[in-house]
Amino acid sequence: MENWLHASADVEEAAALTAHLVSIRSYPGEEGDVQRAVAAWLTEQGLTAELLPTEGDRPNVIARVENGPGPTLLFNGHTDTVLAAQGWSCDPWRGKREGDRFYGLGAADMKSGVAAAMLATRALDRARDRWRGTVIFTSVVDEEAYSIGARALVDMRLQADYCVVTESGWETPTLGAVGKVLVRADITGKAAHGSWPEEGINAAVEAAKLIARLDELPLGAHPRLRATQCVLSLHSGNEQYVITVPEKAQFTINRHIVPGEDGESVLAEMRHLAGGLGSPASFEFAIDPPYYPAWELPADHPFAGRFAAAYAAEIGHAPKWTYGSGVADTNYFAADLGIPSVQFGPDGGAFHQKDEWVDLPSIAGTVRVLLRLAIDVLR
Ligand SMILES: [Zn+2]
Repeated sequence: MENWLHASADVEEAAALTAHLVSIRSYPGEEGDVQRAVAAWLTEQGLTAELLPTEGDRPNVIARVENGPGPTLLFNGHTDTVLAAQGWSCDPWRGKREGDRFYGLGAADMKSGVAAAMLATRALDRARDRWRGTVIFTSVVDEEAYSIGARALVDMRLQADYCVVTESGWETPTLGAVGKVLVRADITGKAAHGSWPEEGINAAVEAAKLIARLDELPLGAHPRLRATQCVLSLHSGNEQYVITVPEKAQFTINRHIVPGEDGESVLAEMRHLAGGLGSPASFEFAIDPPYYPAWELPADHPFAGRFAAAYAAEIGHAPKWTYGSGVADTNYFAADLGIPSVQFGPDGGAFHQKDEWVDLPSIAGTVRVLLRLAIDVLR
């Protein structure tokens, strides 16, 4: 088995595949070319890859390896990247290699993770005597923006028994994360001449009163995840200078939620707080996209145990489980589709910054962890 694992995870092949994916620019909205490159590689390797349309030229890629009755394991990653920051020391798409490190846009987040899942899928296709069931590889678009790619998989009710999202995190395999609710508040007052403000209802002032009391909200408590809120924007008044009491105001809040909270519970809290103001203005609350439910896989869940065994066999120590303070597509697979999920992938750094990097041997290491896990759970 050790020979098979090592033969299936060549560092140079993993490095070349990662560099190839990095070389194809794929800002959110322009993932078509890189997704076709993913599908073409899978096809060259003898797998059946399908492009599933989302919107525009932004297909998801899906490849199924069916190997008789048995459980289903899903691998997922995204190929879109954030926009290149200023000050790169190399071309962000050509990248550069220094020893074991490869620098490039999306090297860590997360074209190397996609490459690891591609290599693991190929290895499982070629070693069908070692497992039974189904492996599904998916590469999605738009994770860095609205997650329309993952949402499309949710809408088709993609079914699996287990899922690994191969986001970077060699030392930080993740068993849960906060969710996210973008709350929009629309405040309506009454216009009046600004020289007689008592004749109007000033929406800007009423909005400010509510914002000043936001810290009275009982944010959800959780032993491992932290609920937070942050006012992202506040707008009121007329575009042009006029002496008029503003009749409209709007603000948005980025609210991170923990398991037990959801969009409805957040809206109910906001309405309750606004109701207690005794304000003459009217307050309306709505949820803007993207919405992410919170998730957690209990550390004593059998899939967490099997992942921990595969991880320890490869890396030499038990995982130090991490709980994310930001959101990812894993939220949808774990919470909306209810698939027991772990987030784990190659070692990297400088996410969403200049000179993002990935450790090349850890891509091959990720392939081996995925293979150890697959042959353990797929039986
Ligand atoms: Zn990512």
